[in-house]
Amino acid sequence: MRLGIISALAEEQEGLIDAMQGAVTLTHGMRDYTTGKLWNIDTVAVLSRIGKVAGAMTAATLVEKFGVTHIVFTGVAGSADFAVRVGDVVVAEALVQHDMDASPLFPRFEVPLTGLTRLPTDLDLSRQLAAAARRYLDEEQSRPQLHRGTIGSGDQFINDSVRIAALKDALPDLLAVEMEGAAVAQVCFELNIPFAVIRTISDNANEEAATDFMHFVKTVASRYAFGILREFCATYTAPH
Ligand code: SAH
Repeated sequence: MRLGIISALAEEQEGLIDAMQGAVTLTHGMRDYTTGKLWNIDTVAVLSRIGKVAGAMTAATLVEKFGVTHIVFTGVAGSADFAVRVGDVVVAEALVQHDMDASPLFPRFEVPLTGLTRLPTDLDLSRQLAAAARRYLDEEQSRPQLHRGTIGSGDQFINDSVRIAALKDALPDLLAVEMEGAAVAQVCFELNIPFAVIRTISDNANEEAATDFMHFVKTVASRYAFGILREFCATYTAPH
């Protein structure tokens, strides 16, 4: 396995590069790709920058130029469900491009010519990531919950309670919203690369989202991301 690790923001990947053995950085297309060994796994870590195109560009480059065989996206997201609280963690079972709408040619949310609305994540990778997250979170004082389900991505920072409620209405299984996951999902689907997405909830996608987000990303998100990835890399076993 050669694992690509993507985050949108530097805080979401804090400490990872320092933990890498034999780290070598190559700059390509406005991004720094750092290869090296992370707890025995051959990895390439990169910051995608923000949004669906940025995520897609990064995922495709990881596969085509850096030869990764698996991808994990780790970052933060807004909650789309009352049961999903700030500080909880969501491992995606599927991703939806919530701003995709080519109706009436294709059903709303369907990615044209793929026949898919919900782009599925890799079962084994997601299962091992969720198990690592659960082990890590069990040690946390605040007892954060781990959820598994659908995450939506769109080119909008959602900070509007009416808008998030409308999206939840249209996609009842939606647990969280962010801006890159479903783009990475489409690239991985088309290139047949197993991938997983893990997001710590930083805000409630409502009017307070921007301030909650800024505070949270700095204090909690980076610590969780590092702890969960360390646990994942240290215990990963290839499926036979
Ligand atoms: N102000 C920030 C921009 C962050 S955009 C800055 O200066 O860097 C928000 C990032 O976090 C995106 O990468 C997205 O994937 C995720 N995210 C967190 N909360 C979100 C929300 N409520 N809506 C959409 N994306 C969210």
